[in-house]
Amino acid sequence: MASSSRTVGELTSPEVAQRLRETSILCLPMGAIEQHGVHLPLNTDVVVAEELARRIVARWGEELDLWQLPTVSIGLSREHDWAPGTLSLTIQSFVALMRDVARDIVRALPARNLVIVNGHGGNRGVLDNLLYELAGDFGLNACVIHPFDLSQAETRATSADVHGGKSETSVMLALAPQLVRRELIAPAGAPPDGDVIAALIFDRGVSFPWRTDDPRLTTDGAIGEAHAASPELGQAIIDSVVAETRGVLQRLLENQRLLRGSRR
Ligand SMILES: [Zn+2]
Repeated sequence: MASSSRTVGELTSPEVAQRLRETSILCLPMGAIEQHGVHLPLNTDVVVAEELARRIVARWGEELDLWQLPTVSIGLSREHDWAPGTLSLTIQSFVALMRDVARDIVRALPARNLVIVNGHGGNRGVLDNLLYELAGDFGLNACVIHPFDLSQAETRATSADVHGGKSETSVMLALAPQLVRRELIAPAGAPPDGDVIAALIFDRGVSFPWRTDDPRLTTDGAIGEAHAASPELGQAIIDSVVAETRGVLQRLLENQRLLRGSRR
């Protein structure tokens, strides 16, 4: 009986060669294990990345030949390393891990397209640069999806929504409500100084190693209006990310066609 699964780990070895092609797109969820305030679990970014990848593969898998890879669950979380439970790789080991995964994808699978679904903002800087090495050193045509930025859903947040806030808590209420400690969500209070958040986190002119134990940013490790979260907003964000991803995947395939053409 042929499997209809689009999860690479659920295929047999012979099925890999039968079902995947050079133009197949591998979908790699990438998370983090880190504090998310008092109301969300350490594995929030793992759940978000893995479940979004699952929905993307379910929605576009047949049309665009998508395949889900096993999740990379530990990332770069030093900004949260003050908190019990936070696990982080060093940049060196993170890059080494990703280069090993890329090398073995190319060795073991026919597919040469990779979309990384990144659940954790702290992974962004290194991943963005790693894309060049994945292409140049391994011939992998890759891109990274940052779901909360890709989403076009209107969040109507009235203060900076950075970590464990309105958007992330909403998505968790939609994906895994049993993991959300609703009774511990702080009631509406005075938000942190928007100018401080703008200067430390969002200023494109300067980068700071901001941390979630900085009392100017947060008192409980979360930054944003978790009290305003809802499963409906979470579902709207999920639906938007899944919809927007179709265009991303088409662009990725277009890049592959251009690159293959230019090598001839
Ligand atoms: Zn998170």
